[in-house]
Amino acid sequence: MSLSNPWFVVALVGIVGWFHLKLIADFLNLSRLGNEVPDSMQDVVTPENRERTIAYQSSVARLDVIDDGIGLATTLGLWWSGAFGWLDGKAASVGWGAIGNGLWLIGVLFLASSLIGLPMDLWRTFGVETEFGFNKTSLRTFLLDRLKGLLLAAVLGLPLLALVLWIFEHSPLAALWSWLLVSAWGLLMTWLAPRFIMPLFHKFEPMPEGELRQAILALAERLKFSVADISVIDGSRRSTKANAFFAGFGKTRRIALFDTLIQGHTTDEIVAVLAHEIGHAKLGHVPRQIIVGLLLSGLMFGLLHVGLHDERLFSAFGVMYPSFAMGMVLFMIVYSPWSRLFDPLVSLLSRKHEFEADRFAAEAVGSPGPLISALKKLSHDHLAHLTPHPFYVWLHYSHPPLTERLAALART
Ligand SMILES: [Zn+2]
Repeated sequence: MSLSNPWFVVALVGIVGWFHLKLIADFLNLSRLGNEVPDSMQDVVTPENRERTIAYQSSVARLDVIDDGIGLATTLGLWWSGAFGWLDGKAASVGWGAIGNGLWLIGVLFLASSLIGLPMDLWRTFGVETEFGFNKTSLRTFLLDRLKGLLLAAVLGLPLLALVLWIFEHSPLAALWSWLLVSAWGLLMTWLAPRFIMPLFHKFEPMPEGELRQAILALAERLKFSVADISVIDGSRRSTKANAFFAGFGKTRRIALFDTLIQGHTTDEIVAVLAHEIGHAKLGHVPRQIIVGLLLSGLMFGLLHVGLHDERLFSAFGVMYPSFAMGMVLFMIVYSPWSRLFDPLVSLLSRKHEFEADRFAAEAVGSPGPLISALKKLSHDHLAHLTPHPFYVWLHYSHPPLTERLAALART
């Protein structure tokens, strides 16, 4: 471990730099919480709502900073105490063969990081979110969700990981094959998730006959958008925050709406929100996002190939005997803060898509009015920051700030 090792320097600058970048963004964003309410939001923001927004956003920011601090301390602590070298020795003595030992190593680290993150997750859900009336989940549901998540990660993740490790043990072109395999796996998951995985956590029920269902079907027909079924998700069992989403490709599209969205909005508003989502599908946004994602993961696998064949990656973390599994872990520690540099680029594309989908929705329902009022309500109800700092937006937002969306909609 020394400054003459490039991996050591790149890891240190990345981990510490990313922490400080986020910290600066958090403080800049907090400093604008007290700014005047934008004109476009004056009609929905009451003084009481304003006060609650400031209190909520401050609590969330404090939690984020503490969470990031714990993450930084844990990573540096494990790194500089020599824990990776020690763990590598333990994994080698498990005696399950190269792939089995690798699965053990990554499994143990994954479990440990889940446990380390648990107290902050508990505080977020049962502290902040409960205090501001968003949380509806019970401790039992919360813990069951975590347990199901861990089991799913084991059932779905371990076979994939075993396959990737096997490829790395056997092929000089392993990075390329793994990239193709993981990409195919990811596409399969986007198909599987709404059908088999989300129902493990939420109850999906067919939307009952009535005005809303008729209005949604009429919209879909007008836009020539085939819908396989419309369901309602019991989001209110966990949180009062509202959402809508689409799932599926081609002819089997399912529309799923959170019950919380239905409860708080008029039919016109819900139809406008759905028109926005249909806009994403009609305008070809999803394949474009997938292609960008594939290119970025291709870059990652290319760099992983370089890292796995460079002993200095291992010595930077005090690991004596290079193995593929440990190499992947160490590479991800080095790479993940740097990969965040691409987030703003991905968000730039995503923000452009949001504006396009908004315009599509306004045209589809014949007026920007319903979407404007739906967006205002969501922002009001979720206690959203009304004047986020541009640097924070650049770093974190995948959607444009509300005021920009409202301004663009008002121009249509
Ligand atoms: Zn959107």
